[in-house]
Amino acid sequence: MPKRSSSLATQLLETLEERGHRSTSPRRAVVNAIAGQNKHFTAEELHGQLPGVGRATIYRSLKLLVDSGVLCRVLLEEGDLHYQLSHRGHHHHLLCVECGSSQDLLGCDIEDLLQTVSAAHKFQLSGHWLEVYGKCHDCMDREAVAV
Ligand SMILES: [Zn+2]
Ligand SMILES: [Zn+2]
Ligand SMILES: [Zn+2]
Repeated sequence: MPKRSSSLATQLLETLEERGHRSTSPRRAVVNAIAGQNKHFTAEELHGQLPGVGRATIYRSLKLLVDSGVLCRVLLEEGDLHYQLSHRGHHHHLLCVECGSSQDLLGCDIEDLLQTVSAAHKFQLSGHWLEVYGKCHDCMDREAVAV
């Protein structure tokens, strides 16, 4: 779907420009490649798709997009750090360990709990990171059929 990804790429570049980051041609290449991903991806996968763009540029662009809130980091259970497009504020991910799919978990109910435990430890809370691992609905259905 080149149409969709090109308008998405424009949006991403605009977000960066609004924050004072000029769109250079390597950065446009990175953003275009990101807009074309349909699943979470690693920086190395992106690098593989963009042999002409240096690693440093790729990592810097990823960081800018994460800081701008349009990309989020996804930590897979085996420890690989992936990235995926995000237009939402604070959220978590439900990650399927079978097929690797990711669903956004909106609404965060653990903030109060964390405030309480932090206070108990005389610890000043500044943020948290949470990924939820398990089996997605599709994978459970597939298993039910296979049995
Ligand atoms: Zn996310
Ligand atoms: Zn699954
Ligand atoms: Zn949260």
